[in-house]
Amino acid sequence: MLTKIHSSIMPFTAIRSFDSYIPASMLMQRLEEEGIKVYLQDEHTVTLSPMFSNAIGGIKLMVLDDQLERATELIKKYEQDYHVAGACPKCGSLKVQYITLQNTTNWIVGIISWLFSNYAVSVKQVYHCYECNYEFENLPENS
Ligand SMILES: [Zn+2]
Repeated sequence: MLTKIHSSIMPFTAIRSFDSYIPASMLMQRLEEEGIKVYLQDEHTVTLSPMFSNAIGGIKLMVLDDQLERATELIKKYEQDYHVAGACPKCGSLKVQYITLQNTTNWIVGIISWLFSNYAVSVKQVYHCYECNYEFENLPENS
């Protein structure tokens, strides 16, 4: 059994870990906007030497213990927004995601447009089926 730290240092728990700085800081920003106390641990190590990322477990997003539950719910919500609950009109698979069509190397743009979905991002987005690779712009109407 671990002894709880009772000093003035507030207890934080790692809620997620990331391989790179940008998605980590994006998520941190979104949680901060919700009034969650968060910070990134090991961001400098990972940013300066990505090779170390795996060894130290990536950049850790630390959340104040008291807010862990709420933060978990928020992240779950963001992830649900991202993973579209739609079915492929061609094969019926549920492995459909709303993705950003950009020179696919640029995954960062995808994450940015996901996180800032309220902002105008001028990129083309489509639904992509990971089962049959079919792509479509609109989900079929629920008739
Ligand atoms: Zn499909």
